[in-house]
Amino acid sequence: MDSKKGIAILGSTGSIGTQALEVIAAYPDKFDLQVLTAHSNADLLIKQAIEFKPHAVVIGDETQYEKVKQALWEHDVITYCGQEALSQVVEFNEVHTVLTALVGYAGLKPTLAAIRAKKTIALANKETLVVAGELVTREARENGVNIYPVDSEHSAIFQCLVGEFHNKIEKIYLTASGGPFRGYTTEQLKTVTLAQALKHPNWDMGAKITIDSASMMNKGLEVIEAKWLFNLKTDQIDVIVHPQSIVHSLVQFEDGSMKAQMGLPDMKLPIQFALTYPDRYKTNFPRFNFMDYPQLTFEKADRSTFKNLDLAYRAMEMEGTAACILNAANEIAVEAFLKEKISFLDIASINEQTLNHCQCIQKPEYEDFVESDRLARLFAASLIPTMQDLSKN
Ligand code: NDP
Ligand code: MG
Repeated sequence: MDSKKGIAILGSTGSIGTQALEVIAAYPDKFDLQVLTAHSNADLLIKQAIEFKPHAVVIGDETQYEKVKQALWEHDVITYCGQEALSQVVEFNEVHTVLTALVGYAGLKPTLAAIRAKKTIALANKETLVVAGELVTREARENGVNIYPVDSEHSAIFQCLVGEFHNKIEKIYLTASGGPFRGYTTEQLKTVTLAQALKHPNWDMGAKITIDSASMMNKGLEVIEAKWLFNLKTDQIDVIVHPQSIVHSLVQFEDGSMKAQMGLPDMKLPIQFALTYPDRYKTNFPRFNFMDYPQLTFEKADRSTFKNLDLAYRAMEMEGTAACILNAANEIAVEAFLKEKISFLDIASINEQTLNHCQCIQKPEYEDFVESDRLARLFAASLIPTMQDLSKN
């Protein structure tokens, strides 16, 4: 019997996806790559498919289908295209674990399809849990599916909990680097540029999460992600700014004991742990040296200057579709900022106005999320007159 673990990577051409392929390439006898997908980067998808020989690939952008198909047919790789195909390829019998490394709301539908097909989830796509955490975790429970976190903070919490799952969590602390604008005042934030926002001090990531890190929305999304992954209440989740990004997060138990997970910032480690849990495989990643970091420092998060973090807490308390609305607004606002249509501070302003304006539906089902996402995108885009076409994404 083939004992290799069948893996599907949704979003293989991105920052997480390419690092996941490095992890998989390092253990050829452990993993069997079944599926790779990209949105529009056909060239890289083709290159990856020729190198890794998956059973199938999906290219989201239908105009690139012929190109990918032509390039891969002689390599015995089947090519599919379009968003719907993502939800089909995760169901293949040979797939054991689906790594959701695509960005944004687009991850929700294929993740639900993978859960319904009883596949293990290695979850990088935090937006899925932000948008519909109650639905996704309920379906995972009902289908006996494990969701292993890839996000470094959540992987840290998870690693601290191994051997402790029967013990109650009193509180968790998610660490935040503070991003490129740590310590800035609102006045200073008025004039920051796209290029500055794209320069993260410690992590090299995709454009959307890099902007989210600069605006602290990433930490807000992670607070909501943590709520669902670890079944916590709002007041059990705290954020602490830790500029060195060495302590990846902490758990405090009911006896007051705190456990932290540490290491150099490198996403390959949490990606690998999500794919190999409960085992740890030997790596040659650079090791942490205390003498390089004589001081690890911690600061309070500035929730009044970085309003997005506060908005995320508010959305979490509102429950229902509030976080879905906030996420949709943020996806529109970040895209507009990346196209230099709005200023940095406009992001939080668009998010706040959209959260205030859109109706929050309580006890939502899947269709309610789809509708809330659609309406929130429309409203957020209406605040950016030149970008109303963005809401059609
Ligand atoms: P990237 O932008 O680097 O990559 C995104 C991937 O998803 C690419 O393969 C892209 O294809 C594909 N994609 C983009 N839009 C769509 C769509 N609408 N439908 C289907 N596929 C799509 O993102 P990251 O790798 O940085 O992030 C991925 C996820 O992981 C995010 O949710 C992020 O929050 C999370 N994460 C990332 C971390 C990091 O270090 N990068 C750390 C922790 C979490 P194409 O290349 O063709 O555009
Ligand atoms: Mg993170």
